[in-house]
Amino acid sequence: MTPELTVAEQAALTSGRDLWHTTPIESAAIPAITLSDGPHGVRLQADTGDMLTGRPATCFPPAVATASTWDPSLLRRMGEALGDECRAMDVAVLLGPGINLKRSPLGGRDFEYFSEDPLLAGVLATEWVRGLQSRNVGASLKHFAVNSQETDRMRVSADVDERTLREMYLRAFQRVVTHAQPWTVMCAYNKINGVYASQHRWLLTEVLREEWGFEGVVVSDWGAVSDRCAAVAAGLDLTMPGPDDAGDQELADAINGGRLDPAHLERSARRVRALVGRAAARRQGTYDAGAHHALAREIAGRAVVLLKNNGGLLPLRTGGQSVAVLGEFARTPRYQGGGSSQITPTRLDDALTAITASTPAPVRFAPGYSADGSAPDEALLAEAVEAAGDSDVAVVFAGSVYETEGEDRDGIDLPPAHRELIERVAAVNPRTVVVLSNGAVLRTKPWDDSVPALVEGWLLGQASGSALADVLFGRVNPSGRLAETIPLRLEDHPSYLDFPGENSHVRYGEGIHVGYRGFDAREQEVAYPFGFGLSYTTFGYGEATAVATDAGIEIRVPVTNTGGLDGREVVQAYVSLPGSTVRRAPRELKAFASVEIAAGETAAVVLTIARDDLAYWDTRLGRWVVEGGEYHCAVGASSRDLRTIAVVEVAGDDARAPLTPDSTVGEWFADPRGVELLGQAFAAASGDGPIARLVANPELMTFIGSLPLSRMTAFPGSPLTPEALEKLVAAANG
Ligand code: BGC
Repeated sequence: MTPELTVAEQAALTSGRDLWHTTPIESAAIPAITLSDGPHGVRLQADTGDMLTGRPATCFPPAVATASTWDPSLLRRMGEALGDECRAMDVAVLLGPGINLKRSPLGGRDFEYFSEDPLLAGVLATEWVRGLQSRNVGASLKHFAVNSQETDRMRVSADVDERTLREMYLRAFQRVVTHAQPWTVMCAYNKINGVYASQHRWLLTEVLREEWGFEGVVVSDWGAVSDRCAAVAAGLDLTMPGPDDAGDQELADAINGGRLDPAHLERSARRVRALVGRAAARRQGTYDAGAHHALAREIAGRAVVLLKNNGGLLPLRTGGQSVAVLGEFARTPRYQGGGSSQITPTRLDDALTAITASTPAPVRFAPGYSADGSAPDEALLAEAVEAAGDSDVAVVFAGSVYETEGEDRDGIDLPPAHRELIERVAAVNPRTVVVLSNGAVLRTKPWDDSVPALVEGWLLGQASGSALADVLFGRVNPSGRLAETIPLRLEDHPSYLDFPGENSHVRYGEGIHVGYRGFDAREQEVAYPFGFGLSYTTFGYGEATAVATDAGIEIRVPVTNTGGLDGREVVQAYVSLPGSTVRRAPRELKAFASVEIAAGETAAVVLTIARDDLAYWDTRLGRWVVEGGEYHCAVGASSRDLRTIAVVEVAGDDARAPLTPDSTVGEWFADPRGVELLGQAFAAASGDGPIARLVANPELMTFIGSLPLSRMTAFPGSPLTPEALEKLVAAANG
């Protein structure tokens, strides 16, 4: 390092100056840089002293919505726009994206996270990071790792087995790190298997850096560091917020006292310094707030998921049809969640204004319920019912009242006042459309049976109202797809019995069967499956073909727009391996493409599955393994609407596990070399060939198949001595 920093300077550089800045080191001409939330807008703290209020910035749709677009190119454009806003506000690192897996619909930050599927989350977040960093602004991939609940979030230990960890909870992080090299990764508050993420050496150093090749800075979540020396030794570089004078002193003392290798602190200081240097390449800029609002509207429109549209009630006709707009959310939109991601928008579109502007026909509004109340109010309901009865179409805006960081949800039901409004309106007007605003899934059964049309509007950011009107009136043909399953009941959810844990431990009992994997494995009915969403047009699938290449699998499928309107289909490929030697979910999303197809046209869709994405984590070998065999690639419009299957033979990796004295008799027999050597050893030791009798006697084999071979050495008269066993093991693995 030139010039060298003293230990005190290194300690200061690796902790913040204040809430949002790094510490400048004047002697070495290292300036401070600004880090700011994140993730769907730039929340640069305003000069109000209030930690949560930001200066005005574009409030793009939160991840719950962007994930429903299934379109990486939109995420890239959003990342670029965020980068431009960061440049205009002198922000060097934007604290996002948040990519934790949605383990339970009760997760308080589900609205900030993408999906219950790691491939979808990883692919989308990769493009977000690429877009942002193309502007020389750094991302902060968070929260690393296994941060899927708010209950006891600063202490809870997520107790999860390694295969589940690797295949589900780390996989999206692995993809983004290896594909997009975020400038920073933010460690989570929680513990993983009893160790704080902030001081988890295996996670922060062995996995993140040594296996995945991460080159940037590991920054703590705000207040996540419990033991600064342990954190630095584990691979945490930057402690936020600051100042942390006591921690700085502890580091110096530990180094002086020989309790901490100075190389750890030097390395972290070098990384933070490199980050500051990188940020210097960023040019100041300006951004066009109008253009960013238009982009926010485009993404929001693409995020809307049409769940039900009986009789083609939607799109609404722009003339003639009078509309009753009901529900306070139409006038006072719910467009983002609470907590550190909350943006002060540059402007805010409400649906009532946008609907009124979309039609010359009469539009009547009634709030139906009060903004914060969940108990039904008879006077408000009566007014709404009257408006609905007098109009050609009724559009009811309903949803969840609040989702926020710091608190998990206590259920997935609609507030009673909203449900009552829907049911009363549907009773007087058979042409009722329900539009939902919510940060995580809501139970829709049984009330949605009483309405012909249902629109899932999530939290759509500042252009929420205009984007919803775009879809309702058909200016945008819906193409959003569910990135999370909507269950019939909360009790059906795979996470139900183990969320949110107790006594600071949460057991990830469903293992790899997160989200749709769990519903599919138990063949459970759901309200709306993962990947589902309707369009105002229809799509037909031809026959899929698949070929295996060195890089993985390439699937081709012709998809035809069979309806009368131009539209966009999200073509999805789910893979399974019947007869696999390891337990797997019945299907796993492995590739997808969002494709614009004009009415009557056919698109030749190509889906590419990288070979790495076929791998499972082999716990015996401690590595990823592609199992050989006939992979079934099912292609279709959702995880439960698969239209065509292509079968392809994929060559497997060498996954032979070494034979050890602890390997069982059954494992020795299952291994061609093992059985041969064992046969020789026994034959040589005893002429009458007990091994031959053993093989010929399946009953005996069942009986002793699970016996570790070493135990045989203790059997009276066993030809297998400890010395012979040692030779056998050496020969088997030689
Ligand atoms: C949140 C992070 C956020 C940070 C800074 C924490 O409470 O977990 O997501 O980036 O605060 O506001």
